Amino acid sequence: MNGYSHLNGASYQNGDATSSNSVAVPLGSTNQPRLMLRNLTDTEATFHLSGVEMGLANSLRRVMVAEVPTVCIDQVLFLQNTTPIPDEMLAHRLGMVPLISTNVARGLRYTRDCECDEGCYYCMVTLRLKVSNLNGISGQFMSVTSDMLEVIPSPGGPVPQNPYGPPPAVSPDDQDIISNRDPSLGQPVGKGNPGIPPILLAKMSRGQEIELLCKAYKGIAKYHAKWSPLSTVAYEYDPYNKLRHTTYWYEEDPSVEWPLSSNAGFEAPPDPSEPFDYDAVPSTYYFTAESVGSVPVRSVVEQGLDILAESLGKVILAVQKETGVDEDEAEDADEGMVAPDLNGNGYGAGAYGGDQGGVGGGYGATPGWAGSGMSPLRR
Ligand SMILES: [Zn+2]
Repeated sequence: MNGYSHLNGASYQNGDATSSNSVAVPLGSTNQPRLMLRNLTDTEATFHLSGVEMGLANSLRRVMVAEVPTVCIDQVLFLQNTTPIPDEMLAHRLGMVPLISTNVARGLRYTRDCECDEGCYYCMVTLRLKVSNLNGISGQFMSVTSDMLEVIPSPGGPVPQNPYGPPPAVSPDDQDIISNRDPSLGQPVGKGNPGIPPILLAKMSRGQEIELLCKAYKGIAKYHAKWSPLSTVAYEYDPYNKLRHTTYWYEEDPSVEWPLSSNAGFEAPPDPSEPFDYDAVPSTYYFTAESVGSVPVRSVVEQGLDILAESLGKVILAVQKETGVDEDEAEDADEGMVAPDLNGNGYGAGAYGGDQGGVGGGYGATPGWAGSGMSPLRR
């Protein structure tokens, strides 16, 4: 018996957890994870996760909402703002604009991992907003929207090839980022798509103008909710309340005042003549995830599962280190197990540590780069 073989569930299914310090895992249909996709669009996914304990289902929910990276505006340099809207408010609104972040996990570096000083092509997307209403009609307002943000080249990008000279030297890490870069990375979601209304940032009257530069960095929602790829993710379990995990408040008839959800169709209704099962545990979770559009929701679910597997791998390694399991034994037992990659994309030690107090900072007054001059991401 070794650390890895616990994961396939065979020992628990047979009730073979005999050692004195083992954890009692409920028997039943757990430890046979299954995921059934019910509905999938670019922005919404409905799926059933079954055969896992609630802790794992909730972990997946939390990883999807808070650990899948996206790119967001984090610092704003105001060159001109003669509208009545304060710089700080405009900077806050710009930070909330969802930007296309397809494949950002491999197509952009965390700026804290980059060797540059103030952001470069490999760790930053630069956007510019330059709008003026100098010749507008008096008394009429002009709307400034997210569609007016334009991506401009960040400094330090790949050097164009010289047909007469040797190819430019690019490190393997940089080459990996170049080849994985999505061409639309950092564009405001819905820009140029008449089916998606743009986000209103400000209204300006005649004679007013805005000119600013934005630095957008890769980040996760553990730092600030603006980096979350999902606007909603929730799961329901036990739609008939057979487990009696909740007590309905009602005035006259709970069955009328608490109508069943659509998920009830996937479970058998309770049999009133059956005695209550004290050993029953939830095993199927009905997930709904809705994307803000920066990353396709399918990719969010897939990345969430990858990140969760990697995190659990790290827990296994830590437990082995504490308990002194022989490394050779562990190596022999990795069949069917996702090998944890401790050198992976920024999930290493210290990545989440440090000062979280600066979350949401980084904006400030005119002129100069807003905030303290150093994004929380660069600490
Ligand atoms: Zn950089």
